[in-house]
Amino acid sequence: MASSTDFPQPKYVTGGCLCQSLTYRIDFPDNYDFKKGSLTCQCTQCRKNTGSFFFPSQNVPQSAFRWTSPDTTTLGRYNATPEGERGFCTKCGSFLYWRHANLDAERIGVAVGTVDPLFLFGEGADGTQVPKGGFGRILSNGEGGHLWCDNEIPGITDKMEFLQTGRRWPKSDE
Ligand SMILES: [Zn+2]
Ligand SMILES: [Zn+2]
Repeated sequence: MASSTDFPQPKYVTGGCLCQSLTYRIDFPDNYDFKKGSLTCQCTQCRKNTGSFFFPSQNVPQSAFRWTSPDTTTLGRYNATPEGERGFCTKCGSFLYWRHANLDAERIGVAVGTVDPLFLFGEGADGTQVPKGGFGRILSNGEGGHLWCDNEIPGITDKMEFLQTGRRWPKSDE
């Protein structure tokens, strides 16, 4: 089985919310560790926030992330707990990032599902800038860790091979 590091790695990706009021770009630093940065979470907060059984994120340095939309007036922030800031679009509802307010404020956990289709799975790619197939596999390899595996849904998330590989935490990593 191929290691995730065998997959092509992007120098940058773009993404945004569903209505495109909020768009962003991530420029990955040299030697960026795509393995360490890839997390998933099955906590109830992330489930409610995303509407999905698990939340895949890529946790990049804050300095690598920048907004590219003309403004960020539709950016809403919600704290389910004092330490966790959740960024979303107030117009279309897209959940865009999770950020630790205290421990890890220099990193931002970008919701990988909001990366643009060109970069995520190579939609429209001609193979020059972005390889056919895109960068989804390296952006979400899961090897940084799977959080809140105690909350696995029997028959569904506990049967997903992707969620069974790499480091698994019963709750969070704290
Ligand atoms: Zn939006
Ligand atoms: Zn979570």
